[in-house]
Amino acid sequence: MRRLLEHIWGRKPFDGGVVLDMHKDGAQVPITDCPLPEVLIHPLKQHIGETCKPLVAVGDHVLRGQNIARSQGYVSAPVHAGTSGTVVRIEEHPVPHPSGLGMLCIFIEADGEDRRQPLGVMMTNWLQRDPAQLRERIRAAGITGLGGAGFPTFIKLLRDQRHPVNTVILNGIECEPWLTHDQRLMTERSDDIVHGLAILMHMTGADHGVIAIEDNKPEAIAAMQDAIHSWQCECEHIASTSVRLEVLPTRYPQGSEKQLIQAITGKEVPAGKLPLHVGVLCQNISSTLAIYRAITAAEPLTERVVTVSGQGMPAPANLRVRLGTPIRYVLAHCGLDQLDGMQIIHGGPMMGERLKHPEAPVVKSTTGLLLIPDDTLYAEHQPEEPCIRCGHCGDACPIRLVPNLMADLIRDQQFEQAEGYQLFDCIECGCCSYVCPSHIPLVHYFRYGKGQLAQLRQERAFAEASRQRSEQRMARLEQEKAAKAARRQKARARSKVATRTADKQQEPPA
Ligand code: SF4
Ligand code: SF4
Repeated sequence: MRRLLEHIWGRKPFDGGVVLDMHKDGAQVPITDCPLPEVLIHPLKQHIGETCKPLVAVGDHVLRGQNIARSQGYVSAPVHAGTSGTVVRIEEHPVPHPSGLGMLCIFIEADGEDRRQPLGVMMTNWLQRDPAQLRERIRAAGITGLGGAGFPTFIKLLRDQRHPVNTVILNGIECEPWLTHDQRLMTERSDDIVHGLAILMHMTGADHGVIAIEDNKPEAIAAMQDAIHSWQCECEHIASTSVRLEVLPTRYPQGSEKQLIQAITGKEVPAGKLPLHVGVLCQNISSTLAIYRAITAAEPLTERVVTVSGQGMPAPANLRVRLGTPIRYVLAHCGLDQLDGMQIIHGGPMMGERLKHPEAPVVKSTTGLLLIPDDTLYAEHQPEEPCIRCGHCGDACPIRLVPNLMADLIRDQQFEQAEGYQLFDCIECGCCSYVCPSHIPLVHYFRYGKGQLAQLRQERAFAEASRQRSEQRMARLEQEKAAKAARRQKARARSKVATRTADKQQEPPA
């Protein structure tokens, strides 16, 4: 298969992967607005990194786009109010997370006016701006990887003299079944996306820009091709660089950053390294659009496009949803009031997670909401059977891991041995589970194993910190004891001298 793909593409594709039934039911459905709910719920952490700290209190009036929770630490992204209104509560609430656990959230009761507070001036002259200034704007706008990863975007845009970026790849692959929000954005907002690409190329100093799309999105391909052409005619900056469209054969998980870079450039990003180590910046379509809005319209991130689809949906939708909108409200807007017998997947069916509480809000990483009836193949839990050592899982793995062996070790609680087989390089794409004839939920084992190792490390770090604290305390007590003994000795010596002097003074003259 690999040889065949190499022959078709004329270069090395990424390893492994699978061909899925794509169910792109929403591909022809234009983006529409989801109405504003009465209350928006903003979790304090919607990104990879440190949780934010509230900047508002109950009773405060806020404007749409106002910073309501600030970053704590470098790897973090601020949170902005999704509409104008009053802060009515700050309390724990369920968030989209497989644990179903809650998180501190800011509740804003909408005043219906939806008045905005811009981030600052509109930087329409971005070509004359210093990249550091633009990067600070992107940080302040709270933009994260909107493909679901949630990594703060400004960090990826830091210029590193040791690793200059020569290619910016816009990731329009959207290789998970059902999801169509990026496809619709490329069809409807192609000019703005190319504008966003030009901004990213200016910021990174890259000479090459590539918009990568899979061949199952003909409308998006045509729209992006037209937009590139008109920008090449109108914009000197784009005309002076090389921007092209790359249409790739549909294959999962091609949208994963490292696999896409390999498919486009032929370069492999080594384990533990970043795309910039091979001179590439990879950016998601929705994030690029958010960057374009933050720079040219001074808009922080307060909304995103979400695909609502799946076998349980009467009609698929691509909705522009205000961040903080309760998921139950979005589904009700799509005509789904009754959720009994239905599973809700947050994200795509391969890498997404089952949502435990529909009261959780739409967050920055909500790419899709898939409704899957309990009795369908995707939702059905097929009984796990013993491994037959067929090796299909290893063949499908894009990272060339040994999934069956890692799963065996994790099953035997040998987490550190599993780590030795590069457990942490696993991108949790689910290809191994998908092809396994024994229905072994391999990717669940890997998530569990990673969680156990993280906990083990945390416990070890805690034990080490306690040991150090205890040693420091002992050392301090020793020092205090020694200092006390020295003081006592000094006092005794002083008192001896004083006694001798007094004795001498009392001696009768000879
Ligand atoms: S889930 Fe991990 S082990 Fe399985 S195919 Fe994907 S990367 Fe490989
Ligand atoms: S695909 Fe399943 S049965 Fe085959 S080797 Fe992998 S884990 Fe075992």
